[in-house]
Amino acid sequence: MEQSLRREAKAVLERGRADYIIGFEPGSLKFTTTPLITKNKDDVDRLVINPFIVNNLSVFLTELKGRIGIVAKGCDSRSIVSLIQDNKIARENIIIIGVPCPGMIDLSKVERLVGKDRDELDDITRDGDKVVVTVDGKERDFPANEVLFDNCLGCELPTPQEYNILLEQPVSPVADKRASGMKVDELKKMTSEQRWEFWKEQFSRCIRCYACRNVCPACFCRRCFVEESEPQWVLPVPRWQDNLMFQAIRNIHVAGRCTDCGECERACPVNIPLRSLAREMYDMVDELFGFKSGMDKDAAPMLTHYELQEAEDSFR
Ligand code: SF4
Ligand code: SF4
Ligand code: SF4
Repeated sequence: MEQSLRREAKAVLERGRADYIIGFEPGSLKFTTTPLITKNKDDVDRLVINPFIVNNLSVFLTELKGRIGIVAKGCDSRSIVSLIQDNKIARENIIIIGVPCPGMIDLSKVERLVGKDRDELDDITRDGDKVVVTVDGKERDFPANEVLFDNCLGCELPTPQEYNILLEQPVSPVADKRASGMKVDELKKMTSEQRWEFWKEQFSRCIRCYACRNVCPACFCRRCFVEESEPQWVLPVPRWQDNLMFQAIRNIHVAGRCTDCGECERACPVNIPLRSLAREMYDMVDELFGFKSGMDKDAAPMLTHYELQEAEDSFR
């Protein structure tokens, strides 16, 4: 798939179909990748596809001008569709190079299972339903659903539905909904007092770095409400109450746009389980409005319209 990606990306640049290619290249640390944004057709030989291409690259689309070729997994392509729905980007300016995605490997799960730090691991590879970890020259197999990110276990569309080029045949979801929703279910079992204490403790650790906001393709406001001073929605100092308010409002802003890509939780430097909030909102939107983000580029965004029968008296 990697060779085919490099070939296609080069052709896109050579034929002038796009000004830039956005993809992944190897990261500076083991088992990581980093975004590659280039206009140079020789750079595309650095593009990679592996179980560590975790970033949702669609976040860059609103920053770049011109026509863009972008490598997109299933969830990323839904974020792209959502941005088209919100008129943030134009479909004709984007060449989507679709990657059928078997799920991304969560290194912290691998570390826990083998009892070693990532630097001590020799190799990690995907082999069908298994993930093979090589430590001290010995191979150990794990079922994929034990080491994939929680959001990948709940992924509904791992193969992009919207694309210009699809690099391989579609794949089926790993589908372990129970494991994917375990953290959310544990929170739901708590009393409201216990849940309040839980989030109070979590948001006491938030340093308000805004990494969760900055990696999120659904968080695209030019001026974020946290920077407003009239009215001042939250104080700039990271008190837990303001941190919680920031995240509660952020989740409402991304309702109907969040594709459960998992980037906010991965980006958080203090490991706050942000996906528990994002996924619960994703499911509520589906349950209440029968709406899933980024499914149809021609459909109106959920929060920008209402049906007449939904209108409260004040709107009539
Ligand atoms: S959520 Fe789906 S498409 Fe996105 S990385 Fe996980 S398996 Fe792939
Ligand atoms: S990434 Fe984590 S620490 Fe940073 S603002 Fe978001 S919740 Fe707070
Ligand atoms: S809220 Fe989190 S999971 Fe949802 S789209 Fe944004 S980064 Fe992805």
